[in-house]
Amino acid sequence: MKRTPFRAKPPKAKFTEKTQALFFDYHPVTTCWVCDWFHADCLHHIFRRVSNSPFNAAPMSNFTCHINRDEKDGQHLTHLTTENQQAYLKHTIHYLSEMGYEPTEADKAFIEKYADEENRALFLEAFRF
Ligand SMILES: [Zn+2]
Ligand SMILES: [Zn+2]
Repeated sequence: MKRTPFRAKPPKAKFTEKTQALFFDYHPVTTCWVCDWFHADCLHHIFRRVSNSPFNAAPMSNFTCHINRDEKDGQHLTHLTTENQQAYLKHTIHYLSEMGYEPTEADKAFIEKYADEENRALFLEAFRF
């Protein structure tokens, strides 16, 4: 009988290299969406790993602002409050529009599903649809 070798599950909705580059290749240092210091070195998934759209990405310092916050509240909960999710998304919309990013159909569908009314309006205005 043929057996399939054990393989670890690939991480869901991992950000592409192109998305990593959008946040890290254009600047010597990237601002952290949590504290505004220039020390971001990882991309947090704003609405968990539901999508790898760049609009689901929030740069943070992994050690100081991403993981340490997890330790304080147990399970990543600080980042996952509706208020913080929409605040991070707002920052990402501003960031991507300022750098001249052009949203794909998948990005539009992501915004439609996850952005609140204010951020949907901001998205439409920022990218001039
Ligand atoms: Zn920070
Ligand atoms: Zn995270």
